[in-house]
Amino acid sequence: MNILVLNCGSSSVKFSIQLADGDRELLSGRAEGIGEARGRRRWRHGGDAEAIDQAFAFSDHEAALRWVLELASEVGAIGAVGHRVVHGGEHFHGPVVLDSDTLRRLRDLDPLAPLHNPHNRAGIGMALQAWPDVPQVAVFDTAFHHALPEHAYRYAVPEDWYRRFGARRYGFHGTSHQYVSRVVPDILGRPSEALNIISLHLGNGASAAAIQGGRSIDTSMGMTPLEGLVMGTRPGDVDPGLLLHLLREGVPPQQLEQALNKESGLLGLCGENDLRAVHALAARGDAAAERALAVFGYRVRKYIGAYAAVLGRVDALVFTAGVGENDAAMRARILQGLENLGLRIDPAKNSLVTDGARAIQAADSPTAILVVPTREEQEIARQVAQTLGHVE
Ligand code: ADP
Repeated sequence: MNILVLNCGSSSVKFSIQLADGDRELLSGRAEGIGEARGRRRWRHGGDAEAIDQAFAFSDHEAALRWVLELASEVGAIGAVGHRVVHGGEHFHGPVVLDSDTLRRLRDLDPLAPLHNPHNRAGIGMALQAWPDVPQVAVFDTAFHHALPEHAYRYAVPEDWYRRFGARRYGFHGTSHQYVSRVVPDILGRPSEALNIISLHLGNGASAAAIQGGRSIDTSMGMTPLEGLVMGTRPGDVDPGLLLHLLREGVPPQQLEQALNKESGLLGLCGENDLRAVHALAARGDAAAERALAVFGYRVRKYIGAYAAVLGRVDALVFTAGVGENDAAMRARILQGLENLGLRIDPAKNSLVTDGARAIQAADSPTAILVVPTREEQEIARQVAQTLGHVE
């Protein structure tokens, strides 16, 4: 069965067609800059090394989905659709089959993730129209963290805020952290129940998770994806007093939201959000770029220390996503000085450029240090197939 995985954002649609019973991607691609004059589309058939990349102005999301529909028909009938949905709130603990009732409940979550969920929902609505007879399943970014213990998910704020506004930590990137927690036992040849893992998803968005026996017991993102690590354009942890100060100084809430989501992080610190560009600037002696690298690496190191304490013993530290998988210099920077925590990197293994999961720890490192390419689409497809009873 072919499973279409859809990820609808504010101005983009990303998709992947996965075979349900195997580890194979048939087709993947994305439409970007939807509704803008300078849009692009990019796609690749499974097995092809080269993606086709074109300037293309999609008038709206529907036009982009029609394009996905056309491409999808080339590789065969779609048996199920899996939708990536950012926020599942307290209600959704795992994948759910979408019907009018779940759609209604989903709408109630919009206030918790106003920048993401409404777009995810719009994509679901259009896909239900386009494929009315195909089962569709929502897979939530928050779900893997649903069993966080109370002491990890509660904020020390008035009880009323929790009850009335849902003020608690939910965590995100769950699909990626869950994929990591599923493959690491295979890599190490040890059962999941026996393993304590720190998973570092370092992409444009970034988060860390402490995983014990296959369950997330703490994670760095909170009620929204703003908390925790420094990201491409988000600050991660800041003092809430700073925001109160800015409000008192007359900065409107919409401007705060824009600045915290789109203008902070690496971009705020040095004018670039892509770590490759930050490295290039730093190599030319740019002090702000060097500072951005230092702040980014230091924040990750702090979370490793915190999660080592949370877990008590760490069996594996895992790097994943764009930065985690590709940026050897940042991996080395992050782990500098952590030898006494049992994290010793092998510089030669760290610098090796290869595809696939690999170990990069030194021979005498008590803790495994792994690079694991994340496969969020594959994980979503697996969960869709499982939900629909197609695989165990
Ligand atoms: P997203 O969170 O948007 O899915 P990715 O996981 O694709 O992001 O990560 C994107 C980031 O990964 C880029 O912004 C860039 O900083 C970083 N990245 C990708 N490839 C490399 C590389 N070869 N070296 C360093 N950083 C890289």
